Amino acid sequence: MADSEVTARVVALPPTSPGNALYTANREPLTPSPLIKLPIGSITPKGWLRCQLQLEADGMTGHLEEISPWCKFNDSAWASPTGQGKFGWEELPYWLKGYGDLGYVLNDQRIINGARKWIDATLASQEVDGYFGPRANKTGLEGYPDLWPHMVMLNVLQSFHEFTGDARVLPFMSKYLKWLNAQPPETFGRGYWPKLRFGDTLESAHWLYNRTGEAWLLDLGKKIHDHMARWDTGVINEHNVNIAQGFREPAVYYQQARDEKFLRAAERNYQSVMGLYGQFPGGGFAGDENCRPGYGDPRQGFETCGIVEFMHSFEMLAKISGNPLWADRCEEIAFNSFPAALMPDWKALHYLTCPNQVQLDKNNKSPGVQNGGTMFSYSPYEVYRCCQHNVSHGWPYYAEELWLATADRGLCASLYAASEVTAKVGDGARVTLAEDTAYPFSDTVEFKFSAAQPVRFPLYLRLPRWCAAAAVAINGQAVSLDPRPLAYAVLDRTWQAGDRLSLRLPRQVSLRQWAKNNHSVSVDYGPLTFSLKIGERYSRSGGTPAWPETEVFPTTPWNYGLVLEDKDPAKSFEVVQRPGALAPNPFTTESAPIELHARAKKIPGWQLDRLGLVGKLQPGPVKSDEPVETVTLIPMGAARLRITAFPVIGQAEDAHEWTAPKAPPVSASHCSENDTVEAMIDGLEPKNSNDHSIPRFTWWDHRGSPEWVQYDFAKPRRVSAVEVYWFDDTGDGSCRVPASWKLLYKAGQDWKPVEDASQYSTRLDTYNRVNFKPVQTTALRLEVQLQPDFSGGILEWKVKE
Ligand SMILES: [Zn+2]
Repeated sequence: MADSEVTARVVALPPTSPGNALYTANREPLTPSPLIKLPIGSITPKGWLRCQLQLEADGMTGHLEEISPWCKFNDSAWASPTGQGKFGWEELPYWLKGYGDLGYVLNDQRIINGARKWIDATLASQEVDGYFGPRANKTGLEGYPDLWPHMVMLNVLQSFHEFTGDARVLPFMSKYLKWLNAQPPETFGRGYWPKLRFGDTLESAHWLYNRTGEAWLLDLGKKIHDHMARWDTGVINEHNVNIAQGFREPAVYYQQARDEKFLRAAERNYQSVMGLYGQFPGGGFAGDENCRPGYGDPRQGFETCGIVEFMHSFEMLAKISGNPLWADRCEEIAFNSFPAALMPDWKALHYLTCPNQVQLDKNNKSPGVQNGGTMFSYSPYEVYRCCQHNVSHGWPYYAEELWLATADRGLCASLYAASEVTAKVGDGARVTLAEDTAYPFSDTVEFKFSAAQPVRFPLYLRLPRWCAAAAVAINGQAVSLDPRPLAYAVLDRTWQAGDRLSLRLPRQVSLRQWAKNNHSVSVDYGPLTFSLKIGERYSRSGGTPAWPETEVFPTTPWNYGLVLEDKDPAKSFEVVQRPGALAPNPFTTESAPIELHARAKKIPGWQLDRLGLVGKLQPGPVKSDEPVETVTLIPMGAARLRITAFPVIGQAEDAHEWTAPKAPPVSASHCSENDTVEAMIDGLEPKNSNDHSIPRFTWWDHRGSPEWVQYDFAKPRRVSAVEVYWFDDTGDGSCRVPASWKLLYKAGQDWKPVEDASQYSTRLDTYNRVNFKPVQTTALRLEVQLQPDFSGGILEWKVKE
């Protein structure tokens, strides 16, 4: 075969042999690596991705030491050689994990030096036994070590070593993991976070094993797997971040167990959580802290920590399995959910990003979302303490995974973005590929090859799941290939300096219907999902001029349902691509490079609820007598306010009326705007009377006044006792147990005191039970007299038969 001829194959998976000794791949007996990470620094991101990274460097992540108390060198136990200091938990390593990589991928010397200061201090802090860092963590869990923050710091050191080859890192990690390996079994299963996230250390142990070949690291790996939470048995925790990083653990363990059931378990975990809670677009799931049964509407959110951990998991799984589906999943959440988690200038972020999210105010949304307090408005501060630090690794890690080495000593374009990669291929020749594209905002990816000599190697191009008609040309000549979605096109040829490869991935409008969310629909165009474009008014709500906090309010209507063509719904949309060059940051309403125009009708009954959350979807198709309008959709990642799961307007008789939502069965004489009446009956058990971890009801800011709360029953009910758990924030605020209280029941139109009531007590940290002569009634009312100058509240109110 002449060298100029092209061999173009399409394969489902890249090969795992003969093995690529040019890079650090899995060492036996680990499963052979189909795709191998290139050393950090091999890939230079360009285009919009570089802009996002630069915004990150100029914004929060690059300057977090100015904002976060946990990143102050003098206060941190991570910075001290003796591990002493005020702060020693996850925050600093969370930030440093992305901060260092941000410096490496941008080759930004200020950031590289800034990270180095912390890394040097960490490397200097190792004890004789191998332990390092904050000494308080060594006995942080009832005398046992809290291993979680160290898991993150190991990732920091891995990246540092990949970028610098610093000779201290491998012996340091080896010594620490030896210390870990010598711990008694009970250490390995201890603590909520460590137990669920220990797969991270398994990955670090494999990383080190591939570099040192120390066999005991695999014993440690088995010990970790055996003692940690068993993700191989299913989704065994409801916390969104735990799921986003924990679900992958079986696949990591698969590499040493060499049993495919573990690889399949990660896929099953993903399917299981997405099947229950990911029934909407954007690539994430409803985990606005924990996944909660009954809270799967697209108005639920996904924590920013969850978004970046999901991305990281998908990147790992793409390499472990070679399955291109994981790269697709990574792109989906990276393009559609991640950008809108941040202010366009990367100077603030929010906790929760939701497919349907039309107002980002700072007010409490609990119990509509799980956590009380501010969750939606943008802030660079500790109100979002974990995400504030952990968001750092999202784009840097992504940039490191654009290109991967293959087991047959080639290269794979795994995630498409403008970039340049320099890597060793074939017999070790160094080649450079420049990738020029506006992807995902265009359908064409151009590659230009350069090298000192012609060199033969296979180039793998991922064919995404949404594209059945990929086309490839080399130096203007079409390459014959039989493309199919979810595969790789392999171009195995001798490449010459100046060779140009053109990949075309034609996009089409397609719709997804979400049967479990009232048959709402979402609209995709290639890897991008589209949202209703809503006018955005940004309003400063706090912070400093340099680091403001911001609320975003809608200035245009959002309560639209789509009017779709019956026969071919995808034909309902007109695609308008903005001419000219891509904006540096395409993820804003003004700069969005693509718009879809569609027909829609307003649904007048669809409104914000009293928490400021978009009303829940109702069964579709939906009836609307409003006129048809043309609306504009923009990429979801560019829409900080958005409707993405749309009701469908029904034309036929069977279209559903949109009904006003039901009022809660509890009400009050007054409720603080940051609290809710529903909190009294949300079933969340208080830990004590000053429990701030669960939603509460308070009469704040009424003080010293007579007040009431009321419980209405749908039909008459026999009741004989109530239990009240009073809220009292002595030491923090001005709520106290009431001076006195009593219970009334509804008799006809009147309220009558219950008879033979036992004591109306106001004990702290427990339920106060009152028994009374049973009554048949439709409502109970609890009347209180607040203490002079104090307000009051209720954490939980139970009514007994
Ligand atoms: Zn977080």
